[in-house]
Amino acid sequence: MKWKNQLTGMKPYQPGRSIDEVKKMYGLDHIVKLASNENPFGTSPKVSEFLENQATNHAIYPDGYASSLRQALAEALGVEEQQLLFGNGSDEIIMMISRALLQPGVNTVMAIPTFPQYRHNAVIEGAEVREVQLKDGAHNMEEMTRQIDDNTAVVWLCSPNNPTGMLIGQQKLEQFVQKISEDVLIVIDEAYFEYITDPTYKNSLELVKKHSNVIVLRTFSKAYGLAGFRVGYAVAQKELIARLDPVREPFNNTVISQGAALTALHDSSFIEKCVIENESGKKQFQEYATKHNLHLYPSQGNFVLLQVKADSDTVFEGLLKKGFIIRSGNALGTPGYIRITIGTRQQNEVFLQSLTEVLTELEVLA
Ligand SMILES: *Cc1c(COP(=O)(O)O)cnc(C)c1O
Repeated sequence: MKWKNQLTGMKPYQPGRSIDEVKKMYGLDHIVKLASNENPFGTSPKVSEFLENQATNHAIYPDGYASSLRQALAEALGVEEQQLLFGNGSDEIIMMISRALLQPGVNTVMAIPTFPQYRHNAVIEGAEVREVQLKDGAHNMEEMTRQIDDNTAVVWLCSPNNPTGMLIGQQKLEQFVQKISEDVLIVIDEAYFEYITDPTYKNSLELVKKHSNVIVLRTFSKAYGLAGFRVGYAVAQKELIARLDPVREPFNNTVISQGAALTALHDSSFIEKCVIENESGKKQFQEYATKHNLHLYPSQGNFVLLQVKADSDTVFEGLLKKGFIIRSGNALGTPGYIRITIGTRQQNEVFLQSLTEVLTELEVLA
């Protein structure tokens, strides 16, 4: 068959181990998954209420325009409805952007390590991928600027960056956007936006107002706790959204996921509580890192990247046997580190105890 050349040797996305898989492998009955930055507090209780009471006709296609969700979100963000694009998770928006703008002969610029879906989609579309090494865990904006040329179609910025959790400094971001030609699309992926507490951070939607080539991605998967429902969205100027929209599948969000996202959006007090819990969980990890002289990147997300001074896969396996699923830095481009989703206070406590046991056994703990 006549497959695209670039698909040769490509592997599908490797998800972290599932809870059921690990239970079976190690004969454990209690597993804590701190691997995919899901919300450890679940979602708003209002969503459960909505799900119990909802009686739609499932034979009917969903509203492809997601009108109710669109209206509520536009109002919440202070943008016009036509400035929004919904995806089956922001993953699908990354795919739409790639499909619309990337092809052989153009290039795309991104950090490394960063969220792997930018690269994955760019390779499928046959674009040249230019990766710029992070500097102390943060985007190297000077070098990224240098990598951009007349053939650059898309630049991907991930802020806070997955897997380091670091924000792009406000001033650096503004200078960068000002410098880059308006015919290069600048994607700012803010999957962890709700968790940001850095007082110097300014809402990126201000950049959308001023620049026709900026698109901001956000999602209901992380702080809103709806990863299973697959709702992400993009915000940009109307003209840009109108150009991207034909690439979208006609019914890409389900009836129930639109309702769940709308319900979650209305419960801002749930998000506020989660952010407070996340901050105090972050402190647990910071104290641990300081105590044991391990490097920890200053995260603005609901996850931390922690040095382990040992082979990450070995630490990963050790933790798995104790019932914790996390991500090995070897799989994320950060060997010698592990990425842990910040859990509930109790989960963090037990996790850090287990980590101490694993690192003590490996004789690397200070
Ligand atoms: C989790 C994550 C996403 C994907 O989110 P979905 O909306 O669930 O597809 C996108 N970008 C980053 C940086 C993420 O960490």
